[in-house]
Amino acid sequence: MDDRLLEVARAAKGFMPDDEGLALHDAARLAGRLGPLLEVGTYCGKSAVYLGAAARQAGTVLFTVDHHRGSEENQAGWEHHDREVVDPETGRMDTLPFFRRTIRSAELEDVVIGVVGFSTPIARAWRTPLGFLFIDGGHAEDVARADYTHWAPHVMAGGTLAIHDVFEDPSAGGQAPFRVWQRAVADGFQPVATTGSLRVLRNETSNPSSR
Ligand code: SAH
Ligand code: MG
Repeated sequence: MDDRLLEVARAAKGFMPDDEGLALHDAARLAGRLGPLLEVGTYCGKSAVYLGAAARQAGTVLFTVDHHRGSEENQAGWEHHDREVVDPETGRMDTLPFFRRTIRSAELEDVVIGVVGFSTPIARAWRTPLGFLFIDGGHAEDVARADYTHWAPHVMAGGTLAIHDVFEDPSAGGQAPFRVWQRAVADGFQPVATTGSLRVLRNETSNPSSR
């Protein structure tokens, strides 16, 4: 990955360790030859830089979906809260300006397309088959499950699914992403790689809509 982009990714606020970001980038660069990339969970655009760099190399684009109001675990009083991302006017989280700044400094504005809103209604209206899907939105059980249910059918045959924050051991982290991973495997996605909490799978079924 380009050194300058790597610097921007490392400097951005967010929840993507560098080794996992690089693994994400490599998986997305290959899958991006099949079709566009889509991420659920933009936050401040950190993973979007790793993915956007991959999209540029593959000659495609990254759509990144977020309502920018934060997950449950990002709200005041929770473990992953950052006061800097609270809009003083409304008292609510707003990570959209941070995302825009990150993508501008990465010079990826022509490749990274922010889609602002709730994941499920966007997925329901979505029609473009995806070469690569990255699920890293809310980690509450119902939210993570809904992201998988509504977005996974959009992954092309031969396309890639990546899931973040998968912890088999409950003492290491919440179990919702792990349960999503288990369900993906049960649905026929083939596990291909693990880097830290990042799991990469491939859709080897020939008819994804049968799911
Ligand atoms: N990928 C990011 C981290 C994402 S954090 C990084 O690299 O740092 C999870 C994000 O999911 C939060 O920004 C939150 O606003 C978003 N989110 C949670 N539930 C959502 C939903 N139902 N629809 C859209 N976005 C959601
Ligand atoms: Mg994550």
